[in-house]
Amino acid sequence: MISVKDAIELVRNNCKPLLKEVIMPLTKSGNYRLYKDVYSPIDMPPFRQSAMDGYALNTYKESSYKLVGEIKAGDNLSPVLKAGEALRVFTGSPVPDTANTVIMQENVSVHKDVIRIESEIRDDQNIRPKGEQVKKGDLALKKDTKLTPAAIGYLTSLGITEVSVYKKPSIALVTTGNELIVPGQPLLYGQIYESNSIMLQNALYDLKFYDITIYKIEDDYDKTYGTLKDAISRKDLVIISGGISVGDYDFVGKALKAIGVEDVFYKVKQKPGKPLFFGKKDETKIFALPGNPAAALTCFYIYVYMALQKMMDRDTVELPKTQAISNSSFKKAGNRPQFLKGIYKDGKVTILEGQSSAMLQTFALSNALAFVPEDVENINLNDTVEVILLPV
Ligand code: AMP
Ligand code: MG
Repeated sequence: MISVKDAIELVRNNCKPLLKEVIMPLTKSGNYRLYKDVYSPIDMPPFRQSAMDGYALNTYKESSYKLVGEIKAGDNLSPVLKAGEALRVFTGSPVPDTANTVIMQENVSVHKDVIRIESEIRDDQNIRPKGEQVKKGDLALKKDTKLTPAAIGYLTSLGITEVSVYKKPSIALVTTGNELIVPGQPLLYGQIYESNSIMLQNALYDLKFYDITIYKIEDDYDKTYGTLKDAISRKDLVIISGGISVGDYDFVGKALKAIGVEDVFYKVKQKPGKPLFFGKKDETKIFALPGNPAAALTCFYIYVYMALQKMMDRDTVELPKTQAISNSSFKKAGNRPQFLKGIYKDGKVTILEGQSSAMLQTFALSNALAFVPEDVENINLNDTVEVILLPV
């Protein structure tokens, strides 16, 4: 049995960025990172543009100009201005090459077809030069840039519709247990509704991982072996729930061994989640989480979360932690470090009743896990405790 600290370090050191490329529509690429540099296919802006509602001038020495026409945004016009002539223009209008400045309309008085400029006339004012943001063929965004809404908007403005991005891990969620049935049908004696797959799928969705396949297997060695072998050969990450403990019908450990999965660790000195397994085969990482739902979700946030962040090459790979004042007292049973479900608010944490690893009711109310280290026996009112903030 290894310590929480060692288990976390083993996950950190065994998970590497997934350097696989995938091409996808720009519209679907939010939150991915660019796999390659992107070069602009056009000049942006594509033509000289007015940055103001006003008047474009071909300047000369006087301050009165002859108004000879109008160009609206979207007009496909490029009239030739002579010195002393002006065009009515608007924000986004094309500005012909023969205009050398735009005066904002607040500084112009209009008398029929003669306008008077009431401010200083300087060249190149209020005109966005062609290619001012980026020129055709120049680097638009560097490799590794995160596709934020702004980045997606920018690439869309360049007319780009597809991008090459780092692939997010493909994930298998595997549940085990003869007792598990799908909600929607009545429970027979001895059965329970299978909830871990939907719970973990939603935890993954929250973190923006969508490439998820769910497998459900009975407590049968051959089925466990066959399904796990297939999932491990296809997916980047396999998350199993249940069947990893020491019962006669827990076949996951035996099957993983037979498949040739390297055991990085099995069993962590912690509560909940003692029978946690982490291993790897080729490029695939495998977690076998305990079947008890609250233990499975705790292990997901402490260990699987980190594996996912490492695979995504993120700078921050752990959930945020903070110190909080305890609003409650808690008596630890046994000497294993504990992750306690609680509610964190304004620097204080309330540790909830009902910490059993079989119960999700408490977890459903929680937004944090308070960590009680091995050497701390009790938490008293107003003690300072470390709190892990959940992404909920
Ligand atoms: P196991 O780790 O397989 O011994 O399972 C431990 C406990 O978790 C048992 O009470 C199981 O019925 C329960 N359990 C296992 N898998 C699931 C699941 N997918 N959904 C809900 N409960 C589960
Ligand atoms: Mg089981």
